[in-house]
Amino acid sequence: MAKVMIIGAGGVGSVVAHKCASAPDVFGEILLASRTKSKCDAIAASAEKIYGRTIKTAALDADNVAETVALINSFRPDMVINVALPYQDLTIMDACLETGVHYLDTANYEPKDVAKFEYSWQWAYQERFREKGLLAVLGCGFDPGVTGVFTAYAAKHHFDEIQYLDIIDCNAGDHGKAFATNFNPEINIREITQNGRFWENSAWRETEPLEIHRGVNYPNVGVKESYLLFHEELESLVKNFPTLKRARFWMTFSENYITHLRVLENVGMTSIKPIKYQGIEIVPLQFLKAVLPEPSSLGEGYHGETSIGCQIRGLKDGKEQTYFVYNNCDHAAVFKEIGAQAVSYTTGVPAMIGAMLMLQGKWSGKGVYNVEEFNPDPFMALLGQYGLPWHEVVGGELAFSANEA
Ligand code: NDP
Repeated sequence: MAKVMIIGAGGVGSVVAHKCASAPDVFGEILLASRTKSKCDAIAASAEKIYGRTIKTAALDADNVAETVALINSFRPDMVINVALPYQDLTIMDACLETGVHYLDTANYEPKDVAKFEYSWQWAYQERFREKGLLAVLGCGFDPGVTGVFTAYAAKHHFDEIQYLDIIDCNAGDHGKAFATNFNPEINIREITQNGRFWENSAWRETEPLEIHRGVNYPNVGVKESYLLFHEELESLVKNFPTLKRARFWMTFSENYITHLRVLENVGMTSIKPIKYQGIEIVPLQFLKAVLPEPSSLGEGYHGETSIGCQIRGLKDGKEQTYFVYNNCDHAAVFKEIGAQAVSYTTGVPAMIGAMLMLQGKWSGKGVYNVEEFNPDPFMALLGQYGLPWHEVVGGELAFSANEA
């Protein structure tokens, strides 16, 4: 039985902690550490009530490598699951290298002062992890995460060559708040207000933020306006599947969400440039985060479903093949199960499954890898078992054609 240390006690951290607690044969001992210890304690109390398991808790500032090293050394986990914020990825990876433990996260590194996310910073750790005989698995949430595994599964079982990939992400849930983000507001708003980007004919093409959009029909949800965004898994997927001629990511937003976002942008509230306010320096987006609801607080009364999947075109036995694989997750059902909302749930379950496969040696290696580089089969086998059943349509009609503009 293994020991796991989870860093981050937000919406996703709560799901990871509960799901690890639900699998005592693999996760023998669990430590949940985060900036605010009381949040860890509340999650531990809930997991104890549901599963009768004890989760240890600790306060930790994971921006501080020495503090993180000291906590890892005192608990001696086999691996760290990082579900704090992307800002902490590198400091936590440094601490794992120093203490000799494996690493997994769900979002790629972002510097605090530039709204830019890419894998270069973390891929640069490849040699150091390899030399130490350690494994780092990057981006093991839903998107990135399951979307990469879905793509690898499609490539392995349904295609000789995959050529067109559209990742479609819909949250058709209603939390009843005028405006809230489903994961960390700062990270979410930085992602959405950036230029869009997609891969086509061996090059990245840029768009204005939310410039390209269209209705997409989601299973069990219906048609929802979906906006083309840059999303981090596109970067690793076009590298790991070089036959892709086009790769895009689409996400739904309601009119109401976009209107709020536009107003907040227009008045400067989404800026990450520090300003002086009554003699102190504040970052408007960080202040906005402080007044918005926390993602982990949205679960109660949230109803409706998320629907996320991959639509793929390519070749099989010399003929055109289409494939759609997806999961729908119900907000109310996961609230009933562990007090979560579906966006946190769909991120936390895959993080736990990735960790489980690492600890069982089914996902192994030395170095830094993205999820699509591993065997997708054991991951797909566990998804339904831990609450995220998936469905596939082989040879059906897709929302996008191969040669659309
Ligand atoms: P939350 O804001 O709910 O939680 C983040 C947690 O990290 C908080 O508990 C916060 O502490 C803690 N934290 C922040 N800074 C530090 C620090 N320096 N040291 C220790 N702990 C810290 O966010 P979510 O749970 O919604 O998201 C967590 C991660 O999951 C993010 O990286 C997000 O990008 C990623 N994500 C990935 C998805 C995917 O599908 N791949 C989808 C959704 C999210 P405090 O409570 O004190 O602020």
